[in-house]
Amino acid sequence: MAVRKSAAGGYRGRFAPSPTGPLHLGSLVTALASWLDARAHGGQWLVRIEDIDTPRCVRGADHDILHTLERVGMTPDEPPVWQSRREPHYAEALRRLDAAGQLYPCGCSRKEIADSLVHVRERHQTLGYPGTCRHGLNGKLPRAWRVRVPDGPAALVCFDDRWQGRQCQNLETELGDFVLRRADGLWAYQLAVVVDDGLQGITHIVRGADLLDSTPRQIHLQHLLGLPTPAYLHVPVVVNPLGEKLSKQSGAQPIDTSAPLDALREAGAHLGLSNRAGTAQDWLARATDGWRERLSTLPASV
Ligand code: GLU
Repeated sequence: MAVRKSAAGGYRGRFAPSPTGPLHLGSLVTALASWLDARAHGGQWLVRIEDIDTPRCVRGADHDILHTLERVGMTPDEPPVWQSRREPHYAEALRRLDAAGQLYPCGCSRKEIADSLVHVRERHQTLGYPGTCRHGLNGKLPRAWRVRVPDGPAALVCFDDRWQGRQCQNLETELGDFVLRRADGLWAYQLAVVVDDGLQGITHIVRGADLLDSTPRQIHLQHLLGLPTPAYLHVPVVVNPLGEKLSKQSGAQPIDTSAPLDALREAGAHLGLSNRAGTAQDWLARATDGWRERLSTLPASV
């Protein structure tokens, strides 16, 4: 896999929205944090539309998101890419992992996995996929492709998150072998995100804390594919008054593109940033300094 080197070892960040609806405050906070971090490091900022989970995608949401970003003054430094046009890369990565003996087909239905989990929980074993198909399909039809996770001490994956501090997950006991190609034929987010971050030479990932527990899986895949591990920063997710993550499902309103400064102010407040600039552009410039200061107060500042 040809990995694109970042310019002179420089910073390359990205915002990777799934086009399931227009940007709302929660996704604007993530976009803003990744944009500010790239600017604060004098780096590049890319946008990647993660549209491989086609049943969840909404027609036109991709262009709507790009338009909103532009309206608030965050324009990507390279033309955006769409994951739906990059499937050959995911297929190649899957072939490589298969050739290296890291994959196996899985014929278990969700119900079978749930039933066997009840059983293994009683025996205090793994909380995730119990590895039923590791040693063969036992006459079942292959449905999904799973990647093996290491056993024993090697299963513990740790990383230092720049905002959240040190994070560890045991892939064997907390998760089990995970799906890279789904039973419905779609590519799993975990595979596509790792392949694209690698190919695009992403050095720094800034995203919502709802993805914290995906990161160890992604680090495992990076190791298997010989890709570098970027620096990670997970910002707290924005919640509604009921404590639910802001999303289209929990009733989040689209960003009002006629008032970009207000949108930035509101998003900035969630990151602990405020300033008195009178235009969106000035606000972003001042917030970049604010972000630098904010970083210096974080536990594991990089
Ligand atoms: N597409 C994912 C989402 O919208 C984000 C992926 C990422 O930043 O790694 O939740």
